[in-house]
Amino acid sequence: MTTVLSCRNYIDGQWLNAGGEATLESRNPADKHEVVATFPRSVADDVNTAVKAARQAYRSWRKVPAPARAEYIFRVGEILLQHKEELAQLISREMGKPLTEARGDVQEGIDCAFYSAGEGRRLFGQTTPSEMPNKFAMTVRMPIGVCALITPWNFPVAIPCWKAMPALVCGNTVILKPAEDTPACATKLIEIFAEAGLPPGVINLVHGIGEEAGKALVEHPDVDLVSFTGSSETGAFVGATCGRTHKRVCLEMGGKNAQVVMEDADLELALDGAVWGAFGTTGQRCTATSRLILHRDIKEKFTAMLYERTTKLRLGAGTDTNTEIGPLINESQLQRVNNYMQIAREEGAKILIGGEIANQGELKNGNFFQPTILDNVTPDMRVAREEIFGPVVALIEVSSFEEAIAILNDTNYGLSSSVYTRDINRAFTAMRDIEAGITYINGPTIGAEVHLPFGGVKHTGNGHREAGTTALDVFTEWKSVYVDF
Ligand code: NAP
Repeated sequence: MTTVLSCRNYIDGQWLNAGGEATLESRNPADKHEVVATFPRSVADDVNTAVKAARQAYRSWRKVPAPARAEYIFRVGEILLQHKEELAQLISREMGKPLTEARGDVQEGIDCAFYSAGEGRRLFGQTTPSEMPNKFAMTVRMPIGVCALITPWNFPVAIPCWKAMPALVCGNTVILKPAEDTPACATKLIEIFAEAGLPPGVINLVHGIGEEAGKALVEHPDVDLVSFTGSSETGAFVGATCGRTHKRVCLEMGGKNAQVVMEDADLELALDGAVWGAFGTTGQRCTATSRLILHRDIKEKFTAMLYERTTKLRLGAGTDTNTEIGPLINESQLQRVNNYMQIAREEGAKILIGGEIANQGELKNGNFFQPTILDNVTPDMRVAREEIFGPVVALIEVSSFEEAIAILNDTNYGLSSSVYTRDINRAFTAMRDIEAGITYINGPTIGAEVHLPFGGVKHTGNGHREAGTTALDVFTEWKSVYVDF
C-alpha cells in the first residue's frame, strides 16, 4: 500500500488549506486505482491571498542584493540534489515517465538552480556615453513585480524551476499554479524552496483547476507578469487576457516538430534520434518528433529499421526500471490519441504498427497506448498538422532537400526541428531556413540545455525565451538612468 500525499497551498510561508471545501486527487497514470495525492481546489479568494502575500514580500525582496537572492537559489539547488532520487520516484509515480527521464527532469531543475544563482552576480546593465557634458548615462535591470507561473504536467519539476529560479534571482516574487495532474511534484518542489529559507511570500503555491485558480491568477489586477507553458489553446486565452489587463506575458506552447532524414544521413544515428524524439516521454513533449520527413531513397530501408526498433519498445509503469515507454498522463489524453487513429484512417494514412490502446496484462489499469507509426501521410492531413501529444509519428516522403524543408516549415508551430545529413551545405541551409526556435543537426528534436534560449516561433511562442541569459529579459524591465554632475 503506497501513501497518499496530502498537499496544501503554500502562501506567505505557511501551508494552508484552500477556502473552498472541495479537494481533488491525482492518480498514477500507470494504475488508475492508485491515488497519489489529494490537493485543494482553490478559489479566487485563495488566489487573492497569495497575490497579497507576494505583493507584500516584493516590497522588501526587490531590495535584497541580487547576489544574496541568488544564494537562496543556490541552496535550493543543493537541497534538490539531496532529494533527487525521491523526487524522480515521485515524478514517475504521478506523471508516469520512466525513472531515467524523471531523474533528468530533476537534474534540469538542479542545473537551472546553479546557473540562475550565477546570474545573481551577472545582472549587468550598461554605461553608455552621453550626448551631454558632465552626464553619466546607464541602464539597469529592474524586477517586474508579482509573477504568476502557470505550468504543465509533462516536466513537473524542470519547468517550474526554469521559471521560478530566474524570476526570484531577478527580484520578483512568484505564485506557482501547477498542472492539476501533478500537484504532489509541485508540493515537494515548493517544500524544497521553503527549506532553503526564502522569506515568507517570496514563493507561493496555489493548487487547483486551470479554469478556476489559473484563470483567477491571469485576470488578477495585481499580478504584473504571467509566464505560461502549456497548450496553444490555453495560451491564446492567457495572452488575450494579459493584453486586456496590461500584463507582461511569456507564452511557451505546443509543437509539431519534424525530423528530416536525407539520403546521405547516418541511418543508425537518425534511427536513435527518431525513436527517442517520437517515443521519449511517450511523445508528451512540446519538442516531440511527430513528423518524420524521409528522403525517398532511404524511406523503405529507414521505415523497416524504425518498425523493427518499435516492436522492441517495452511499455510499463515509469517506476519499473525496465520501462522504456510510460503511460499517457490521463484518460482524456488516452482517448484523444486514440481518436487521432480514426482520423488517420479516414484521411488515408496507414497504421504500420501500434494504433491501439494497450490494456493487456499489467497494463490493464493504466493509460497506455502502443507506440505508433503512421505511413502514407501527406502534409495536408490533420495527423501531420495537429499536435497529438502521444507516441505517434507520421512518415512523410520527399524527393529533395528543398521539399523537406518546405514541408518541415509548413505548420502553424515552430519549436524544435532536426535534420540528419552528412552534407555541410545542407546543414547550414537548414540552420538558416528552418522556421523554428531550435534546430538540431544530426540530433533528435528533444533535449535542451538550461543555459541556451528555449522557445519557439509562430503559434508556439510569443517571442520570449525563458532559459539561459534570455530569461533575464523575461523577468526584468530595463531602466535608463541619467546622472548629471
Ligand atoms: P494546458 O492544458 O494548456 O495546461 C497548462 C497549464 O495551464 C495547467 O496548469 C492548466 O491547469 C492551466 N490552465 C488551463 N486552463 C487555464 C485557464 N483558462 N487559465 C489559466 N490557466 C489555465 O497544457 P497541458 O496539457 O498541461 O500541457 C501540454 C501542452 O503544453 C502541450 O501543448 C505542450 O506542447 C505544451 N508544452 C509546451 C512547452 C514549451 O516550452 N513550449 C513545454 C511543455 C509543454 P490544469 O492542469 O488545472 O488544467
